[in-house]
Amino acid sequence: MKPTLVLVGRPNVGKSTLFNRLTRSRDALVADIPGLTRDRHYGHGRIGHRPFLAVDTGGFEPLVKDGIVHEMARQAEAAIAEADALLFIVDGRTGLTPQDKVIADLLRRSGRPLHLVVNKAEGMDRAVVGAEFHELGCGEPRVISAAHGDGVNELIDLVLEAF
Ligand code: GDP
Ligand code: MG
Repeated sequence: MKPTLVLVGRPNVGKSTLFNRLTRSRDALVADIPGLTRDRHYGHGRIGHRPFLAVDTGGFEPLVKDGIVHEMARQAEAAIAEADALLFIVDGRTGLTPQDKVIADLLRRSGRPLHLVVNKAEGMDRAVVGAEFHELGCGEPRVISAAHGDGVNELIDLVLEAF
C-alpha cells in the first residue's frame, strides 16, 4: 500500500505549492472523489522509487466554528483520519503564530506520525529559521522551500523511511 501523506496547516503557508510539487510527476493522477472531497485534493507522487499518495487540505481554522471555514476544518479533520503521516506546514517568513500552536495541539492529539515542515525558507539559514518552531513540540523542524524545491526530496525521503 502507498502511504498517505496529508498536508495540513493554516491557510497560506504553502500547502498547495508543496502538493503541486510532489504530484507534478508524469504519472501523477488526480484521484479526487467528487462531492466527498471538497477542499481536499488527492494526487500520486513518487520520490525515487517510492510512491505515495499526497492529500492537500484547504486550510485549517480550528478557532472558527461556522460556515465555510468550519467546513474547511472538517475536511482537514477527515484528512487527518486517513493519514499515514501528517506534514504540518508552517511559514518560516511569517514565523510562529498562535494559530500554529492550536493546530499543533490538535495534530499531536491525533496520534498520527507527525512531521513539522517550515516552508518559504529559500535563501535563509535553516537552523535560524527552524529555531523558534521547536516550542511547538512536534519534533525537529524540517526546513524547505516548496516554491524552489529546496529540502523537499530530503523531507519526503525521511517521511517515507517509516514505511
Ligand atoms: P496554502 O494556502 O497553504 O495552500 O498556500 P499556497 O500554496 O496557496 O501558497 C500561499 C502563498 O505562499 C502563495 O503566494 C505562494 O506562492 C507562496 N509560497 C508557497 N511556497 C512558498 C515558498 O517556498 N517560498 C515563498 N517565498 N513563497 C511561497
Ligand atoms: Mg491551498
